[in-house]
This record gives sequence, structure tokens and C-alpha cells, in this order.
Amino acid sequence: MTTQTMKIAVLPGDGIGPEVMAAALELLHVVRAACGGPVLQFDTRDAGAQFYARSGVALPEATVEACRQADAMLFGAMGWPDIRNADGTEIMPQLELRMEFSLYAGVRPIRWFPGVPMVLADERARAIDFVLIREQTEGLFYSRGRGRMVGDSEAYDTMQITRAGTARVSEFAFRLAERRRARRAAAGLHSLVTCVDKANVFLSMAFFRRVFDEVAARHPEIAADHFLVDAMAMTMLKRPWDLDVMVMENMYGDILSDMGAGLIGGLGMAPSGDIGDDHGLFQPVHGSAPDIAGQGRANPCAMFLSAAMMLDWLADRHGEPRLEVGARVIESAVEMALTSGSVVPMEYGGDAGTRAVTEAVIGAVPGALRRLG
Ligand code: ATP
Repeated sequence: MTTQTMKIAVLPGDGIGPEVMAAALELLHVVRAACGGPVLQFDTRDAGAQFYARSGVALPEATVEACRQADAMLFGAMGWPDIRNADGTEIMPQLELRMEFSLYAGVRPIRWFPGVPMVLADERARAIDFVLIREQTEGLFYSRGRGRMVGDSEAYDTMQITRAGTARVSEFAFRLAERRRARRAAAGLHSLVTCVDKANVFLSMAFFRRVFDEVAARHPEIAADHFLVDAMAMTMLKRPWDLDVMVMENMYGDILSDMGAGLIGGLGMAPSGDIGDDHGLFQPVHGSAPDIAGQGRANPCAMFLSAAMMLDWLADRHGEPRLEVGARVIESAVEMALTSGSVVPMEYGGDAGTRAVTEAVIGAVPGALRRLG
């Protein structure tokens, strides 16, 4: 029997991107050796602000093509404060990739990991486990590159909400809630999809809610509700343990997902997947972190957990349970490393830099595999 090979386009990018990416590739090699399953063939490609400074191109066509051919994309971080497009905007090839491959669902799991310092002074915060879904192909980001000035006295940006864009991301949210349902039910929790909007003020947001409601009506087995985005910001701080899956337009998702990362200890613990019908890109929520780049201080756990999301997604698409085992092993190894007490990431005031955290997580892989039976 021939071993299946899966091609992963690897885009390390800028700043701490290459640092956490190198750590994740090392971990993936170890996990694959321990769990078996398809061979992961990594195809590392150029892109990003620092590449732009050298070449004049931020996202070369060859990189886009490699991404198109790949089974999945693994992405570090891109962008650098001093390197800008001619109009002064930041160089962010990730936004182009979202459009190129229609990666409409930005999936940001917000889950507290044992071993990470608690941010909220409430024991129930240990149960934080929700998923924020950010629509990624329209919303206020539609205006990127399309903003309009009137003389030097007024500026306009436009929010785009389409029926098709809202329906597909809402469907995605209900399908995800459906998949989480058994696990939540086992813990005595009900399933819920929350539409986050500002339907009381904006026509575009009232339309978003209306289309969401139409989709919700097709999923009577899952409860649905609505929150205004300002009320959701407060709810995320007051009782985040009650949330399950929420869906929202691009800009609200951009803001609330950083807040979600803050709730579980910081950007170093927050993974994400940018998912479309045919492609998936996995990256930590954090950016290139210029303030700590090149110092070996970055917490690589968000990158590790993004790699686990990639394995889950591939497992699902290809019906390959060993990839799913790999995903659970990574999550478990991160948890075991952080609860061991021997490594406290610098992000949380400890002295463990990228290398020490990576070694601890890799060292926990055999134990994680045993724990999963
Ligand atoms: P972007 O706009 O590109 O998403 P950002 O403005 O959110 O970026 P980041 O680059 O993510 O900024 O960094 C925000 C802060 O979080 C910085 O102080 C950075 O050092 C810290 N940070 C981000 N990622 C990590 C990490 N993996 N480990 C430790 N600290 C991190």
C-alpha cells in the first residue's frame, strides 16, 4: 500500500512568523512520526513585507500557484511597520489570499488552556470554549483599496453585505455548531449560534441578520440568537463560558477575535483557520510582533494549535483519522507542557522562549499519545 502524501504550502512571512513556523514544522515532523498517516510534504514559499522590500512583490504569482496546488496552507505572520504600499497601507498578502481562494470563514476557536494564567477572576473562565467566525470576503474590509476622499475634508469607506456571502458563512456556523453538539451535550451544554451585528443602526447589518435568520430556520435543531456587537463585547467579558459559536461581519470579527485571544491569556494561544469550500489556510491570530521579533521570545503555541486545526481539516476532507489523532496529540502535548510547571512562556512572565516551549511540547508528544490511548 502506498503512503498518501499531502502537500502543505508553507508561508513563514515576517517577524516572528518564521520563528514560530520553524517550531511548528519541527513539531509536525515528530507528530507524524508518532501517529503515522499521510506524509506531509512542506513547500516553503516567499511572501510578505520583508520579501516585498527585497523584491518589490509581496505575494509572487509562483507562491499563489503553489498555494493553489497544495492540500492546505500554513501561514506564519505578515506585515512590518516600516514597509508600506505606496498609499501608506500595510502590506498584508493574507488578505489577498483570502480573496483569491474565497476563504470566507475566519474560524477562531477561543478556548482556555490549563496552565495558562487566568485573565478573568472567575473559576467559570476555565470553561471558556467558543468559536468566533468572521466573514472574510466582504463586510467593511470590502472597502480596502476602495475608500474615497472628498477633497481633504471627508473620507468614506463602504460596508458590503451580500445575501450569498452572509448565507454561506451562516451555514458554515450552523454546520460547525452541529459538529460541536455531541461534545457539548456530554458536558451538559446546549448548542447555540449567535449572530453578532448592529442591526439597530445599519441597513447592511439588518440585512445580515435577516439572511442569518433565514439560514437559522433551516437548522431548527440548533438554537440561534442575536447580539449587538457592543453588547457582545461586554458579554465576552462577563460570561464568555455561555458562548458556543458566533458569526459576524469582517471588521467586528477582526476586533472581537483579538479580544477573545486576550480572554484566554494572549495572542500566543490563539489559533485560526481561514476556510473556503476548496481551500484552507491556517495561521496564528497574532501578527509579526516586531517588538519581540528576532529575540526567540515568541510563544509558538498559537502556531502549534493552528497546525492542529489544519490536521483536523485535512482529516475531515480526506477521511483520514490518523490526521485527527495528530491534531488531538498536538493539543494534548501543548496542555501537558504548559501544566507541567517546567515551562512558563515569556508571554506570561516566565523565562521560556520559543525554543524551550517547543522542546517541552515535543517532549510531551509520547505522553500525549499514551493519554489518548
Ligand atoms: P496584526 O495587525 O498584524 O495582526 P497586531 O497589531 O495584532 O498585528 P501583533 O504583531 O500580533 O500585533 O502583536 C501584538 C502584541 O502581542 C505585541 O506586543 C506582541 O509582542 C505580542 N505577541 C503577539 N504574538 C505573540 C506571541 N506569539 N508570543 C508572545 N507575544 C506575542
